[in-house]
Amino acid sequence: MITEKRTINYLRISITDRCNLRCLYCMPEEGMDFVPHPEILSYEEILRVVRVSTQGGIRKVRLTGGEPLVRKGFIDFLGRLFEIHELEEITLTTNGVLLEEFAPDIKKCGICRLNISLDSLQAERFHHITGRDYFDRVWAGIRGAETLGFSPIKINVVAMRGINDDEVLDFARLTMEKPYHVRFIEFMPVGRSNGWRQERFVSTEELFRRLETLGSLEQIRNNALDGPAERYRFKEAPGEIGLIGALSHHFCDRCNRLRLTADGQLRGCLFSDSEVDLKTSLREGRSDAHLLDLIRLAVENKPREHGILQSGPRKCVRPMSSIGG
Ligand code: SAM
Ligand code: SF4
Repeated sequence: MITEKRTINYLRISITDRCNLRCLYCMPEEGMDFVPHPEILSYEEILRVVRVSTQGGIRKVRLTGGEPLVRKGFIDFLGRLFEIHELEEITLTTNGVLLEEFAPDIKKCGICRLNISLDSLQAERFHHITGRDYFDRVWAGIRGAETLGFSPIKINVVAMRGINDDEVLDFARLTMEKPYHVRFIEFMPVGRSNGWRQERFVSTEELFRRLETLGSLEQIRNNALDGPAERYRFKEAPGEIGLIGALSHHFCDRCNRLRLTADGQLRGCLFSDSEVDLKTSLREGRSDAHLLDLIRLAVENKPREHGILQSGPRKCVRPMSSIGG
């Protein structure tokens, strides 16, 4: 699907809003309003949306959440997703807690590339940020994935001042030792109570300046299905650095994505609460042509830019876990 100058070919799917961690920037320990189970799209419904969306030009799907690996039947679903041959790429974002157990089957289904979230290289701090003592399990997952030959393994780090920003260079050094792609993500004001404050925000410009103190960074070119990260590498490093400036350096003019929420709403933009309801049509048994019209409507409604810099950071009401970060 092509709008103005943008080609929309990438669908991110939150397959569940449940999670086995409680990251302080995403899901508060108390008071989360989870989507009631009957309102969550079934795997069958998700597969139908994907099939129809490929008729509209979707070529890449990312499975996310919540934590996708906590949803029952995930591997069977993944196998069926791989039967949709129009898709050129299927990827997964996980917190890694259950990865050691699932990685062999994920690989067998056909996924090669993984994004794993890890906001600290220190066990105690990891516990503080995620609310759970699973640091070793995540590392077992990362190492297991590496042994199985997943490549690249991308490590997502949300940079937060006063919480983990003192580890920026430690993460950067990891790319000099390992073939990991460490991607620093700007902390975003999403969800009602995710603790976002201006003082916590670290821009990609600031991250770049800090990273340069370790050595010179050469820029790497993106391809058509790549996301918005600006990619860099230290000389002779096996790994890469990615900078995702979702707020400050916004990349709306290159944004190629739609998002399907866990309860079947299609969103054009993380920061706009405008949504197109697919679930009702799916459950009323409407035709593929009708669904495709709705998908095209979501593309047409996709904002040209999120405008956060002009309007000041505002929160999108839905939690990140149901939109799929
Ligand atoms: N549970 C999986 C995980 O954590 O990788 C997948 C879902 S999570 C919502 C997807 C990504 O969104 C993670 O990399 C997470 O760090 C990121 N994320 C969540 N809330 C965020 C926020 N407020 N600002 C920036 N990134 C955020
Ligand atoms: Fe769970 Fe991922 Fe949100 Fe952390 S960022 S609470 S792992 S969904």
